[in-house]
Amino acid sequence: MALVNMKEMLADASLKHYAIGMFDVSDLEMVRAVVQEAETLRAPVILGALAPDLEGDRLEYWFALASLAAKKSSAPVCIHLDHANTLMEVMRAADIGFSSVMLDASSSPFDENIRRSREVVDALKGRDITVEAELGHVGNGWVGSGEGSESGPDMLTEPEKVAEFVERTKVDALAVSIGTAHGVYIKAPELDIDRLQKITAVSDVPLVLHGGSGTPEDQLQRAIANGICKINIYSEMLNAWNSRMLTELQALPHMAAWPAVLRKNPDAAMREVIRNKIRFFGSAGKA
Ligand SMILES: [Zn+2]
Repeated sequence: MALVNMKEMLADASLKHYAIGMFDVSDLEMVRAVVQEAETLRAPVILGALAPDLEGDRLEYWFALASLAAKKSSAPVCIHLDHANTLMEVMRAADIGFSSVMLDASSSPFDENIRRSREVVDALKGRDITVEAELGHVGNGWVGSGEGSESGPDMLTEPEKVAEFVERTKVDALAVSIGTAHGVYIKAPELDIDRLQKITAVSDVPLVLHGGSGTPEDQLQRAIANGICKINIYSEMLNAWNSRMLTELQALPHMAAWPAVLRKNPDAAMREVIRNKIRFFGSAGKA
């Protein structure tokens, strides 16, 4: 199947009140896991790429893997650049063939965020590439010092700014900050669903939830019911894989194990996370 535009995917999700999983993937087995689980469940899916996996010539390798998986897949697949910080990163991805990009200027002041997001929209004009931006800021759930969340009430998306942001940037999708955080939660988040309802009421574009990993299911359910169409997952996959790999390594009599054999169970644990998310988001059977 050819690459699918994220805008079309999200339009259907928005109409039918389900969410599409965006899974960040870092290697061959992660790419295969996401695309094959999506095929089995007949679900549209988004493969996400993060900067460390695209450094130098990694971009070429990463895109070759992802685009091959998308081409072979019977499920619709979108290839998305997650959290680009600069226009240059966006253009690198666009030029190699990504069908969707996110420019994250959410740490910038409002007008600067608008200017930088709009710059990406203008640069990609006429190229059929979906653009996501972020208003408000989704911080990290776990910081290196272990001191706690860097998210706070002042980082949440202000509903009264949404219409102006979308109108002035012309972005296709909007990531909002309603109480989730990236990484691993120190304590369970409490999503501000009232705020989400206010945002949904004034937003012309589909809404995205970052920091989906570890967010309690009842809260995700309410977020989907109130307008979230795309949910980003990464940490939960890593947690499942790494935890299982630790057990595998500890059980070995020596350290000369073959990677393909050693990672079988960790891969299975990661696939279970992906499968559960796709089912839970309601996107199974939508392809
Ligand atoms: Zn994110």
